Amino acid sequence: MLSSDHADHGRQHQSRFRVKVMLATALPFEGGVLDYLMAGEDRPDGHTPEIGQIVIAPLGQRSVPGVIVGLSDDDLHDKRLKPLEGYSDLPPLSPELLDLLRWVAAWTMAPVGAVLKMALPVKDALLPPKGQKAWQPAQITDLDSLSDKRRAVIEALQEAPPMTSADAALLAGVSKAMIAAMAKDGLLEQVTIPPEDQTTIAGGKAKDAIPSVTLTPAQQQAADEVKTALDNGQFAPFVLDGVTGSGKTEVYFEAIAHTMAKGRQRLILLPEIALSPAMQERFKSRFGDWPVVWHSGLTPAQRNKALRRIAKGDAPVVIGARSALFLPYPDLGLITVDEEHDQSYKQDDHVPYQARDMAVMRAKAEDIPVILATATPSLETEVNIDQGRYQRLQLKERIGTAELPEMAMIDLRRDPPPRQQWLAPQLVKDIQSVLDAGKQSLLFLNRRGYAPLTLCRTCGERLTCPQCSAWLVVHKRDHALHCHHCGHRARWPEECPSCETEHSLVPCGPGVERLSDEVRKLFPDARQAVLSSDLVTTPAALAAFTEDVLSGAVDIIIGTQMITKGHHFPDLKLVGVVDADLGLAGGDLRAAESTWQVMVQVAGRAGRSGEKGKAVLQTMAPETPVFKALMTADRDAFLAAEKQSREIAGMPPYGRLASIILSGRDEGKLRESGHLLGQHRPHFEDVSILGPAPAPMAYLRGRHRIRFLIKAKRGVNVQKIIADWLKSVTLPSSIRCQIDIDPYHFM
Ligand code: ADP
Ligand code: ZN
Repeated sequence: MLSSDHADHGRQHQSRFRVKVMLATALPFEGGVLDYLMAGEDRPDGHTPEIGQIVIAPLGQRSVPGVIVGLSDDDLHDKRLKPLEGYSDLPPLSPELLDLLRWVAAWTMAPVGAVLKMALPVKDALLPPKGQKAWQPAQITDLDSLSDKRRAVIEALQEAPPMTSADAALLAGVSKAMIAAMAKDGLLEQVTIPPEDQTTIAGGKAKDAIPSVTLTPAQQQAADEVKTALDNGQFAPFVLDGVTGSGKTEVYFEAIAHTMAKGRQRLILLPEIALSPAMQERFKSRFGDWPVVWHSGLTPAQRNKALRRIAKGDAPVVIGARSALFLPYPDLGLITVDEEHDQSYKQDDHVPYQARDMAVMRAKAEDIPVILATATPSLETEVNIDQGRYQRLQLKERIGTAELPEMAMIDLRRDPPPRQQWLAPQLVKDIQSVLDAGKQSLLFLNRRGYAPLTLCRTCGERLTCPQCSAWLVVHKRDHALHCHHCGHRARWPEECPSCETEHSLVPCGPGVERLSDEVRKLFPDARQAVLSSDLVTTPAALAAFTEDVLSGAVDIIIGTQMITKGHHFPDLKLVGVVDADLGLAGGDLRAAESTWQVMVQVAGRAGRSGEKGKAVLQTMAPETPVFKALMTADRDAFLAAEKQSREIAGMPPYGRLASIILSGRDEGKLRESGHLLGQHRPHFEDVSILGPAPAPMAYLRGRHRIRFLIKAKRGVNVQKIIADWLKSVTLPSSIRCQIDIDPYHFM
């Protein structure tokens, strides 16, 4: 029930209420709240207003989910007041979650409705499921007068319970059109079958799960710290910092098992949906049950079902991508963020947020522990540990006899590959000896497709996307050019679009598909498998790939960054990084940090079962500090140097950064707007504003883009400065303005 003030005024006797509803859509005004009419509980369709209650509200031609946030004292008989359309049977959102959503909106400067939409992403899941239409045979006197097929349908259905037309068609081996026709002729009768909306995970079953391993003392100690925090029922941020293969997953599984009995929900965030088949398997074998999975690859029906289970508290464990963070868990008990350093936790569009940081905020709001697991902590997390905000739990050694791989570097200037090839002679030799020993190698190249660039031999023209300032990437599989930014596709042209010379275009540089050709030429008898998001597109395909590697049906794996995480391939002896310099180009803030992370992660795939593995980095610049740190495995020195350089530059995590991107189709108008905003820039001592300048992607999806970069000291309220600044100018409606607080991907 809503606050008693209203009851004091005798409102509980009212049969209608004027309620304030926060709508789950970006509204053009602050607060994102509109008033609606609600019928009281003494009416046939009535309800009692409750804070957090999920409703469906009409908005123009649409109906939009929303949440009741209060009662309104305004006129109940207002003609424009529209009645609510639907009431969810799910539990209300908690005040803590509502506060968190408001906080996220304020922090990211996104409309609160856009944030609420992340909590209520599937409208259909909010209402009680409807029964399904099903068919059963009508009373029929004369079966013999029917055609064979129609008789088959009747006979099949006489034996079976009522079923949907799809199921009936399948059972009788006829088309759905036939079922429809029979229904029309009165041969079938329609009934409604009740919704199956129950849980398939037995709540208690996981309780008697059997631990698959005995934890090592270091693991036990880490697990005990988390268990104590769980027992105390309080917010506690932990960093589970352990080298690859040190048994971090087993530690947080132990923490999960500890809370199983309490029946609270646990959330495991993973950076990539691609990781979930392996994690699901592992979870199943540890706990005997499948977790509920949440990511963007689910079908609408799966999303619907998953969201209902989550919101009803019927999902004891949820494994999800970053979008699982804001779902309305009624009773969250523990959050784990696996691979916390992974940059895919940062969302760039819609509501630009960092899911790892928001996971900590959610844990704080719910007063529960949160575990950030990683082998390569992000600098943000390191600094949070330094400053006493997070507690480090360290696992220094790999499990069992597995040792960390030996690291080696190949100087491509001294030991270059032959022309139009990308594997240096030394790496080729290493691969050969691993092949001879009957073990597996992995070649890592973070470039999708066949070649990143197409050049005209005659005039030097580079093929670029017509809608973006980006090169078109050659894909061999469909003989086409793809833009990896907007999805534009074009056929491979016969002649250069600029000088019109025929057969003059050549692909330049390697992608994984081209590397695959080279490997086939060098090792014709080796069996290879390529892992990239273009070739392995579904969780099932990824599971099949993993199975092939594990069963020994693959000798050489070639992969993009999809290969760097999560996988555990016991026979993998050698990892070759084809172009270690790739991540350093472009010079964004986190280039060295993320290169270090990727290299440690990918090298960590090698030698995970006993025999020592080897990781080889090919580079044109062996003197680069990050490579030196990798060779000497001097993580502390690397982190210290990296921290120092950020601190001196006043960059995150020591200083604050925000970007404003203006974009528009009309370049002239955009430039004017940039100029106008530039003229109104605020002046504060601890804030510097750079720009307007062309954004790194100066043209994207048909829109020109310019950028302002705001750099400030840590204590500065950047959001307020930006809000006041933007309020001081009126930009044309054709100009879009995107704000990113603490941007990661400098596009
Ligand atoms: P990480 O998450 O740190 O990479 P994992 O938890 O995946 O490490 O553990 C690496 C491997 O070691 C897995 O195959 C896991 O089953 C195994 N393992 C972990 N802890 C133990 C243990 N205490 N005893 C035996 N095997 C273990
Ligand atoms: Zn494009």
